[in-house]
Amino acid sequence: MHIKSSTAEALFQPLYVQIHPSDNVGIIVNAEGVRPGAEFAGGLRAAEAIPQSHKITLRDLEAGEPVLRYGAVIGHAKRAIPRGSWVREELLDMPAAPLLEELPLATAVPAALPPLEGYTFEGYRNADGTVGTRNILGITTTVQCVAPTVDYAVQRIRAELLPRFPNVDDVVAITHTYGCGVAIDAPGAAIPIRTIRNISQNPNFGGAPLVVSLGCEKLQPARLFSNDLPVLEERGVIRLQDELGFEATVAAIVRAAEVRLIELDKRRRVTCPAADLIVGLQCGGSDAFSGVTCNPAVGFAADLLVRAGATVMFSEVTEVRDAVHLLTARAATEDVARDLIREMRWYDEYLAQGRSDRSANTTPGNKRGGLNNIVEKSLGSVAKAGTSALMAVASHGEKVTVKGLVFAATPAGDFMCGTLQLASMNLHVFTTGEGSPYGLALVPVVKVCSRTALAEKWPDLIDLDAGRIATGTATIADIGWELFRMLLDVASGRETWAEKWRLGNALTLFNPGPVT
Ligand code: CA
Repeated sequence: MHIKSSTAEALFQPLYVQIHPSDNVGIIVNAEGVRPGAEFAGGLRAAEAIPQSHKITLRDLEAGEPVLRYGAVIGHAKRAIPRGSWVREELLDMPAAPLLEELPLATAVPAALPPLEGYTFEGYRNADGTVGTRNILGITTTVQCVAPTVDYAVQRIRAELLPRFPNVDDVVAITHTYGCGVAIDAPGAAIPIRTIRNISQNPNFGGAPLVVSLGCEKLQPARLFSNDLPVLEERGVIRLQDELGFEATVAAIVRAAEVRLIELDKRRRVTCPAADLIVGLQCGGSDAFSGVTCNPAVGFAADLLVRAGATVMFSEVTEVRDAVHLLTARAATEDVARDLIREMRWYDEYLAQGRSDRSANTTPGNKRGGLNNIVEKSLGSVAKAGTSALMAVASHGEKVTVKGLVFAATPAGDFMCGTLQLASMNLHVFTTGEGSPYGLALVPVVKVCSRTALAEKWPDLIDLDAGRIATGTATIADIGWELFRMLLDVASGRETWAEKWRLGNALTLFNPGPVT
């Protein structure tokens, strides 16, 4: 990445970032944008006012010429665009998504990165070998009918029991809108069901879940845990329709919780290698800087995690679709590449059923932030995945067990993506440009922002400012290392801002199956 400034005092000078040497556009860095006639170091002049994080043409573009960012085509000029102009959405024709039939399969597999040894964190080791970063009592529900009752019980457990168990961080109800009124034998139903099952066994819960059922719902506990019936026999299930009224139900939940809290309170943090981290990555509220600062820095940290033997998951199918040709080439084997294509095809068909396609992804905030279309957004989004080989692909809500870089299919919506990643992860990294106070109750969420202005505006929400990369005061490697070390600290118990304020967005299951 080339920044047209070498010193911090040039901050008040007009400044742009050119990400790849072949790019014919740059990204305006200045918080206030640039005025018409503003002159950059090197002689480029702005032909018009251009806002921060939007694109400026670095040379004259002819009609039909490709517009290059990240060294890749983000669109074609609809008409001639003179040097120094603002590249707005209406000036670009969006390229078609790469054809799934013509993708390269494992043709550019990166060499294994050198191992990174000696990095550890303090975590809760579970009997199955997984490691928790927090010590939480999770209460699974099989249907939304029981959710308010379980929420009521959780309030009582927090107030009456939790103070007696100082080693337990929290008690969380795993509530959701699934469980009944759905075509539970339809193929799509497998996704929400396995997501709930795998979340219920998240490493932060230390083993078997506590389960609350209604009784008559379609998602019976035995069906939810079909692969893991001993879990149910061991812990039992509280069925509301077997209890004698509300107070007796709540008392039964509180009693069962106490039994689990006694066990959880015995857990102690022990030193674990960084290889035990399962880090989920996603972005939300992205702007044109996301792909310049925070996402590449997260990608650098992702490489460090992979080198340390950890699992790194990236997701968000509609943000990968337009960059899929880069990823199938990077797949470790042809089979992994085909698995990725399978997920892309499944989602193309899902969107087509709703008479839509991947271009429905971009938001007004993305566009205000300078991201003209989904192609540009995708290329910036996949920067989070770093440079290592793609080792495996998981379908929606499947538990990831492979080490290294893994694509875990999810929708791009923040809550669905986070919820589906909870099937596996013990730590979450969220990058944002426009800003979101996002958080999850079950795992720590580390928020990394793309611009320093956002870090200054939200000092008590943003954990790490990657905007320093754009102003030249830190490199991608600096922020990547800072994030890597922060992740080890947070995994060991350091509180994130989202945890401090207890920001836990509601779990949002992805149910592509029909409702009845
Ligand atoms: Ca997202």
